[in-house]
Amino acid sequence: MTQLVWLRNDLRCSDNPALLAADQATGDTIVVAGIAKTTAKRHHRGDRQLQFIQDRLFHLAHELATLNIPLIRLESDTFQKQIQEVLSLASTHRSHAIYINEEYPLDERQRDRDLERLSPIPVYRYEDQCMIPPGTLKTGQGSFYSVFTPFKRRWLAQLQQQPSLPGAKPKGNPALPCAPSSWSSQSNPAFPADSVSIEQRLLSWVERVSNYDETRDIPSVDGTSQLSPYLAIGALSPRQIIDALQHAHPNALSDTAGVGTFISEICWRDFYRNLIVEVPRVSMDKPFKLNTLGLPWRNDTEAFERWKAGQTGIPIVDAAMRQLNETGWMHNRCRMITAMFLTKNLFINWRWGEDYFMSQLIDGDLASNNGGWQWSASTGTDAAPYFRIMNPVSQSLKFDPSGDYIRRWVPELTNLDNKSIHEPYAKGPRPGLNYPQPLVDLKQSRQRAIDLFKQHLQETN
Ligand code: FAD
Repeated sequence: MTQLVWLRNDLRCSDNPALLAADQATGDTIVVAGIAKTTAKRHHRGDRQLQFIQDRLFHLAHELATLNIPLIRLESDTFQKQIQEVLSLASTHRSHAIYINEEYPLDERQRDRDLERLSPIPVYRYEDQCMIPPGTLKTGQGSFYSVFTPFKRRWLAQLQQQPSLPGAKPKGNPALPCAPSSWSSQSNPAFPADSVSIEQRLLSWVERVSNYDETRDIPSVDGTSQLSPYLAIGALSPRQIIDALQHAHPNALSDTAGVGTFISEICWRDFYRNLIVEVPRVSMDKPFKLNTLGLPWRNDTEAFERWKAGQTGIPIVDAAMRQLNETGWMHNRCRMITAMFLTKNLFINWRWGEDYFMSQLIDGDLASNNGGWQWSASTGTDAAPYFRIMNPVSQSLKFDPSGDYIRRWVPELTNLDNKSIHEPYAKGPRPGLNYPQPLVDLKQSRQRAIDLFKQHLQETN
């Protein structure tokens, strides 16, 4: 008899509730995992993230092998076919139960309901991805939290009372022969996928986290954790991160400086996961604020292509889009700037931007990406008000004052001085400069967005 664990967005050995529960049951544990490529493409997940998952599975197979736990590769390309394959493997290996960790987007939840319906053996489900399971925290009136600050207050209070600690590593099977791994890895030097490197990154971040308040908004410095790719595929859990922080900073959960600010970001991650569970329409291309449905977004494909390519003529936007295209990661400040520029100055539908980000990001994550886009587009919960539009040039002057970030990604502008690099054509033409003119006038396009929003909201309210 065996028990079968199906890993999806929880690609780690330690602190894995489903794996640990299977490990503690009687019988040998078998793990299965694989990418449903066709479904992943339908969800706009890009090759970079899929390769990263592949790399991670390669290393995970080796780690599990040291515990005598085989990792069997699923070959199916859709969720539905994966279910059939998992059930067939369960039958071949005479499994008495299937163990999974919960996922929260709609299709994933439907997949797991289908698995339960079709499985002749029990399917045990565990909460894993959040510090506090989505759907748990409610306001005094019993509804879900739509505003971040009170959510965070409750979240912190609960974690102080009832710590959410990482679970142990499985003991493994006594002696189940593990077939040689059939996984291959290309290894991404920016985001190595083996557990030793991941742990080193976490520990080195814990040493630097106190400066987070000063460094987090400066895209030219390495001032954030860059743990997002690992969190996005569950190579690392938020419990492991907060536990590591608390070892070094025992008062982390009540800290009001760097450590506390960083913990707030982990809370934002929980907040957006809570939201996709409480308001499922947000993962169905629908806005949180229903009165923003039908905004007259401009279907300007040419402008969209220039935004994607980092050729808008707004240096900070172009630097950020090129960073995304080249590395699969973008600094948070720049995600906000580029998303606001697309949805407000270009008045292009946030869903276009959301899908494009997803197709490029190595840390692509439905809940956080959707939350970030709807925040920027003013269609989301606790979002930026529609009339508070970031000016990308002011943002650039404030957060990249020396132009280092722009120089790194937009080499055409390297020789401009620290002021004009933010707005090369502010004082007129620059013969010989091979860089596009701004795609839009920032002032006029800002006003256009405000007017369109105002008019639409008056008509729909
Ligand atoms: P740190 O600053 O070190 O933060 C630590 C962790 O907290 C992050 O790894 C992440 O898991 C979480 N976090 C930080 N900021 C946020 C946030 N605003 N919302 C939710 N969680 C957060 N994050 C993703 O993980 N995947 C996405 O697809 C994604 N898309 C985004 C799209 C837009 C338009 C915006 C504005 C933000 C998006 N974010 C996304 C949130 C944020 O930009 C990234 O999590 C962050 O930049 C990752 O870098 P880091 O690990 O160095 O973050």
